[in-house]
Amino acid sequence: MHALPARRVTQRVNVGLVPLGSDAPIVVQAMTNTDTADARATAAQVESLAVAGAELVRITVNSHEAAAQVATIRELLDRRNIHVPLVGDFHFNGHRLLAAYPQCAEALAKYRINPGNVGKGARRDEQFCQMIEVACRYDKPVRIGVNWGSLDPDLLARMMDANAILTTPLAADTVMREALVVSALENAQRAMDVGLPPDHIVLSAKVSHVQDLIAVYRTLAARCDFPLHLGLTEAGMGSKGIVASTAALAVLLQEGIGDTLRISLTPDPGGERNREVQVAQQIMQTMGLRAFTPQVVACPGCGRTTSVFFQAMAQQIEAFLTTQMPRWRDRYPGVERMHVAVMGCVVNGPGESRLADIGVSLPGAGEHPSAPVYIDGKRTLTLKGPDIAQDFIRLLEAYVDTRYGPHPTEYSRLEQLLDTPPFNTGRLIASTTGAQPCITPTV
Ligand code: SF4
Repeated sequence: MHALPARRVTQRVNVGLVPLGSDAPIVVQAMTNTDTADARATAAQVESLAVAGAELVRITVNSHEAAAQVATIRELLDRRNIHVPLVGDFHFNGHRLLAAYPQCAEALAKYRINPGNVGKGARRDEQFCQMIEVACRYDKPVRIGVNWGSLDPDLLARMMDANAILTTPLAADTVMREALVVSALENAQRAMDVGLPPDHIVLSAKVSHVQDLIAVYRTLAARCDFPLHLGLTEAGMGSKGIVASTAALAVLLQEGIGDTLRISLTPDPGGERNREVQVAQQIMQTMGLRAFTPQVVACPGCGRTTSVFFQAMAQQIEAFLTTQMPRWRDRYPGVERMHVAVMGCVVNGPGESRLADIGVSLPGAGEHPSAPVYIDGKRTLTLKGPDIAQDFIRLLEAYVDTRYGPHPTEYSRLEQLLDTPPFNTGRLIASTTGAQPCITPTV
């Protein structure tokens, strides 16, 4: 077991019932892409994201029509027993919308304010302060989220001018990075001057390049104790977005920086939105920071197994685990830490399967067409025939019930299954109630 990186010490901010900060788990966030004015569609997507594992969900509040529906969205979710806190994303007109729709201000658990997009010149500070006053009135935390693409132009101009008269001016991108940090910190101070307590403030400073993001967050982390929301903005599509986000966030998380994260993936047109939740979870789970779903260990395959059977089986098992998790999460505490191995041949198959909680080593090319199954490190039975995948899934279900179930009986569901065909014919352990396992091959 490796030591986990020490988290940076921060304020603790409560977003509804979800705590953020160094002594709380790192929280997975997601954002809808529905029109918030369409309350039903938005509530359905929030529900889908929450079921996938999002612990906070942000919705766009960009118009009167959208603001008017926020309380209804909250109500629809509560009626369906989905209590994930909603975060309102405000730009340009947030001060007006929050003032005009008190039910919206109340229904949201947090406001996200981008100080670069709240108005121009003198109006900017005034409108920013109006939003903070609403947050104070309703006792809501605020994420002050600055962004490379909408950095306050007045601040940037001021800092560029100051840089230009230095004997040795800094590079323009260094000044821009510093401007992002200064913008986040100055606005946090402004919010506190209005009356927002420090334990109601979360900061983010998003950019779209990995090295810039790491540099900006390191600086921000060193200069304040507010919880930080991590994310690479406009990460992109497909594997590029996933790899770029992982590369940036893994470095920061390893340094203990980051209290909540969102992966900004561009979905395919009409594509699945939940992918960003799965990626956020995978980053944390592969780093050992949190556990969300059982992990499938599968080998990459090679010339020793020319069939695609085991890849298909690994995929099938992964899909099965993903669909079961919403039900298993409460029923089988600890199941999210389970490891399942699906291996392609005898070279590494038995070894990896033995190290997993439950694993199967499939026959490679030219091997005897049987698949030994290992349970809790012991070779327990051998599967054969065309239904290996389905049989293994039945074993997996029984194993989960037996190992993580609330009321384990002496004659467990796994024991019962192992005593019935076809499992008993391939069974290697003499079975039944109370019997000590003894390896006596029957095949
Ligand atoms: S376990 Fe076998 S099939 Fe899988 S990569 Fe290793 S040698 Fe190849």
